[in-house]
Amino acid sequence: MAENQSKAVYVAEQVKEDFPILVNDAAQERRLVYLDSAASAQKPNAVIDAVEQFYRTTNANIHRGVYHLSVESTMAYDRARARVAQFIGAQNAKEVVFVRGATEGVNLVARSFLQPQLEAGDEILLTLMEHHANFVPWQLVAEETGALIKIVPVTPEGELDWEQGRKLLTERTRLFGFCQASNSLGTVNPAPQFIQEARAMGIPVLVDGAQSVVHGAVDVTALDCDFLVFSGHKLYGPTGIGVLYGKREHLESMRPYQGGGDMIDRVSVEGTTFAPPPERFEAGTPNIAGAIGLAAAVDYIDQFDREAMQRHEAALLEQATGMIEGMDGVTILGRASDKISVLSFLVEGVHSHDIATFLDVEGVAIRAGHHCCQPLMTHFGISGTNRASFGLYNTEADVGHFVEALHKTIQFFK
Ligand SMILES: *Cc1c(COP(=O)(O)O)cnc(C)c1O
Repeated sequence: MAENQSKAVYVAEQVKEDFPILVNDAAQERRLVYLDSAASAQKPNAVIDAVEQFYRTTNANIHRGVYHLSVESTMAYDRARARVAQFIGAQNAKEVVFVRGATEGVNLVARSFLQPQLEAGDEILLTLMEHHANFVPWQLVAEETGALIKIVPVTPEGELDWEQGRKLLTERTRLFGFCQASNSLGTVNPAPQFIQEARAMGIPVLVDGAQSVVHGAVDVTALDCDFLVFSGHKLYGPTGIGVLYGKREHLESMRPYQGGGDMIDRVSVEGTTFAPPPERFEAGTPNIAGAIGLAAAVDYIDQFDREAMQRHEAALLEQATGMIEGMDGVTILGRASDKISVLSFLVEGVHSHDIATFLDVEGVAIRAGHHCCQPLMTHFGISGTNRASFGLYNTEADVGHFVEALHKTIQFFK
């Protein structure tokens, strides 16, 4: 898409109308104020329709089919890959591997890229604010190979302590994995700087983009990261589809992740040769409808001025932060100078699940718990937080309802 193509005006109140689940039904007296987009975002009609349209008109297995429908289905799947590649600034669509989500993307890199090169005493550098998806796969390969996990510490404000972290990049470091934005604190990490420093030492970098791709433009070519992972469902797309971006030279040298159909070149009883990437990493029938739905989500987001969207989300975060920080017993966790629209907080003396349950009665959906970040929670000496997160469809009125419901809840528990 041309950079100068004119964008639709972005108005959150209007955008909300595109999301059927959020259109409040007066007859049923149902009100949903959805503030859990960091866990999974709602889907616009454009995505729902694209998936339905595929099943109604185009469904057939891809590749090898000679008949018309299969050719069409294959073309739609390939177009989806090209669209996603363009969305993240990849030079070549073959650098985009469709996976189930960010989690599978990390596992694939851990197993197919890193594990074969790991020796006892090698190091994998991660950060304390990683999602379990960017922790556990590395722990598994470390345990099996005798490699060590090193951790960049976090400051009390919830930023990475890079003065300390930088020292952990050593000649034994085989990979540096970090989130570009934290799902639990909202912290935006200075990815370009981290990548530059690591790559200057010849250390490959995996960026967990599960949150960052949602809240701003991510360009893998400008970032020059080796790998980037994200999930479709957080980007207003379907569940069960996600992306692993990998530099071509890496993907070409990597061994398969799973074996099966579609990933081979030639199979004989004696052995098998494998297809080039990305097919090498897409064993079996892929999530064709999911890929098409993800491309529709990308089209949907890209129709708007993304900077206007970012400004709106930042304004909601500022509004919500300002309104709750003065409340009785409320402490905000995550005070980074650069944040995505994620607001984690604690209420003194009230368990986070009780807060979330009471807010639910008021029609306000927030998340409570460890947010798949137990190492970070342990570091702060807590079991979890309450988390409100804002998506492109949230409005000032949503923030108002949230604040009012929270106020009521705190009064109740007093
Ligand atoms: C949600 C999330 C993941 C995992 O995504 P899945 O869709 O569960 O695979 C990884 N990292 C971050 C930062 C996330 O927010």
